Amino acid sequence: MSEIEMNFENRILSPEFSSSDGEIDYSLRPKFLDEYIGQEKVKENLKVFIQAAKKRGESLDHVLLYGPPGLGKTTLAGIIANEMGVDMRITSGPAIERPGDLAALLTNLGPGDVLFIDEIHRLSRTVEEVLYPSMEDYALDIIIGKGPSARSIRLDLQRFTLIGATTRAGQLSGPLRDRFGVVFRLEIYSPQELACIVHRSANILDIKIYDDAALEIASRSRGTPRIANRLLKRVRDFAEVINKGEITLEVAQNALARLGVDELGLDSIDRRMLETMIKVYGGGPVGLETLAASIGEEAITLEDVYEPYLLQIGFISRTPRGRCATPSAYKHLGLERQGQQSLDSF
Ligand code: ADP
Repeated sequence: MSEIEMNFENRILSPEFSSSDGEIDYSLRPKFLDEYIGQEKVKENLKVFIQAAKKRGESLDHVLLYGPPGLGKTTLAGIIANEMGVDMRITSGPAIERPGDLAALLTNLGPGDVLFIDEIHRLSRTVEEVLYPSMEDYALDIIIGKGPSARSIRLDLQRFTLIGATTRAGQLSGPLRDRFGVVFRLEIYSPQELACIVHRSANILDIKIYDDAALEIASRSRGTPRIANRLLKRVRDFAEVINKGEITLEVAQNALARLGVDELGLDSIDRRMLETMIKVYGGGPVGLETLAASIGEEAITLEDVYEPYLLQIGFISRTPRGRCATPSAYKHLGLERQGQQSLDSF
């Protein structure tokens, strides 16, 4: 494994699930809509859809959730199942290799159950084709036998709700996207919402934390609940050693500085990305592929994991000719702008 890959694996600010999040991650997951903080529009609509489906005694329409990792897609799927009073099976696009795998999952669902498919954009075409009739008609078309004697039989399924999650809605095939009755985009959280999540998690984990300290952790969590929870756990470790477990603002600031997380939640990889854009490419525009190759990351990782937050805080902008570093990025890194040329596009 290269140094950079290791860096990513250990990256405290990675929004992806890591094994160190472990069981605690599970215990921190809200179980019902009222405990789910933020995403007000999504919650409002979901409440209506769930109530209506329950009233009619039907299963909920299929739901597509999309947005960057760590924003609560899996959590929301679990909440939908709980609110509907049904069971949920969890799988992911790459795990369903053959149509037979999908058939096994679907035939084992109880009435109204939820099938959650994470990374649904990674389903293979052949599996997708089996999925269409099951989403539309709650039936599976299976081919039995080979050659001239092969015949297709139709197997009826229980009604179920498919919840698909993806970081890249654009990669979903049109026919699959069209079969979802409900599509929600999850948004990056505000620092105030994240502070509520930090307080809630501290409560569950029995950690004493002050309001200003919770807001400090929240402000450095890149709008992502998974990161907020992870930072809280790491800061608690420092607090236990230096302050009998109490997290004050000073303890939080101290711990976060030692973890290499700056006041805006940028770490060494974000800084390297911005510095490369500025020092090597004159602030841009630079294509994502070129930038990725320069810093030894995959373009897809930059786009899914690093870029959403840098765009959100206005440190980079997307132009038709590539990405540009904005004046705020120069200022944050303490770098001088060389002439105005690269900034013309703002
Ligand atoms: P995703 O599936 O989008 O990658 P998850 O659903 O696994 O994200 O969420 C990551 C963690 O963040 C969960 O363990 C949960 O504790 C926390 N979390 C996510 N969204 C919320 C929320 N709205 N309120 C409280 N905690 C949340």
